[in-house]
Amino acid sequence: MKLATFTRGSTAELGIIKGDKVLSLSRRAPGLAPDMIYLIANWAALEHDLRNLASTSSHDAALSEVKLLAPVRRPGKIFAIGLNYADHIAESKMPKPEHQVWFTKAATSANGPFDVIELTTPSFVDYEVELVVVIGKGGRRIKAADAPASVFGYCVGNDVTERMWQHRTPQWSLGKSFDTHAPFGPWITTDDEVPDPHALDISCSVNGEQRQKSNTRHLVFNIWQQIEHLSTAMTLEPGDLIFTGTPGGVGAAMEPRQFLKDGDRVRCEIEKLGAIENICAGTS
Ligand code: ZN
Repeated sequence: MKLATFTRGSTAELGIIKGDKVLSLSRRAPGLAPDMIYLIANWAALEHDLRNLASTSSHDAALSEVKLLAPVRRPGKIFAIGLNYADHIAESKMPKPEHQVWFTKAATSANGPFDVIELTTPSFVDYEVELVVVIGKGGRRIKAADAPASVFGYCVGNDVTERMWQHRTPQWSLGKSFDTHAPFGPWITTDDEVPDPHALDISCSVNGEQRQKSNTRHLVFNIWQQIEHLSTAMTLEPGDLIFTGTPGGVGAAMEPRQFLKDGDRVRCEIEKLGAIENICAGTS
């Protein structure tokens, strides 16, 4: 199932994506779930009704008539792993990490799949296409072997990064946390539709020029290892996001370096999950 948060005006609605149409849960089953985190947290109780609704109802709008919002509008936590594809480690001129390298992106960096990415002036802003894991029931001290059961679904994400802020101090979190710098979506594809999340083509283009192209089988630390590691430290909760690393081809590693400019169109795409596309805008 593909679950979206969208608006046709001012009010956010939950929906089920059916091809190029959307079925509004907020309209068909008002009171079922006020938001995506509630829906995820109560999935075991709601799934049957949702699947029934999806199979017996038609649609309420064409996708082209609605605006898709961040599927989880305000995630409780956004974690992202650094240096997790071999070609990106090489282009970053860093040694392969012995331990998983984690940083947080502020919850307020969450952004819609087709919304504007704000640039700094001058811009040192860069793109990083990533497979995003949406935590389902979550938990603490989850073993890698049990980790698949803690996942709700998957999205396409862009771990947008302000490279100057990232690298002028040892701690990356501020450079990763600017408002608008975590666009993701276009919807959540539930895990039953992604039998192997470690076998997905992943790519990013800027203004139609391909910059990144890989497959999630090249992750250094796989998703299950990531969940085991994070949940050793803390409780993972419904709707938390994990950005699972970016492949080679970032702008900062190009010769000469290429940062995002006013008007640039960044498209991130993952097999089975769809694509997000964001336009960059300078702030002055
Ligand atoms: Zn990243």
